Amino acid sequence: MSDCIFCKIINGDIPAAKVYEDEHVLAFLDISQVTKGHTLVIPKVHKENIYELTPEIAEKLFKVVPKITTAIKEKFKPIGMNLLNNNGAEAGQSVFHYHLHILPRFGKGDGFG
Ligand code: 5GP
Ligand code: ZN
Repeated sequence: MSDCIFCKIINGDIPAAKVYEDEHVLAFLDISQVTKGHTLVIPKVHKENIYELTPEIAEKLFKVVPKITTAIKEKFKPIGMNLLNNNGAEAGQSVFHYHLHILPRFGKGDGFG
């Protein structure tokens, strides 16, 4: 989608710090790091939210999530990690291209919760 910021990142029109990439999935650091290592995992096809994800797309995305979380754990050495996904403006979604947030946790005062 031409006016989608995440599609622009996929196409290389907007730079992003890539954490993982394959044919179907891209993971990159969130521009405003809620916690250190805050990462977004997205499908390369434009799907607005969880309701639009097909089982095939979901499979491709979630299949590589353990690999991505392990890499983040090794790099940032968090003591915990939250995975979350906002669907709909009322639920806090601000970019309407499906994304899974990976939030490394570092204890009290780490910026989240
Ligand atoms: P949401 O609120 O939709 O669940 O999350 C959208 C996330 O995308 C936010 O955490 C926001 O900081 C991040 N974001 C928005 N624009 C950009 C951008 O241009 N680059 C990167 N790397 N992250 C972005
Ligand atoms: Zn998009």
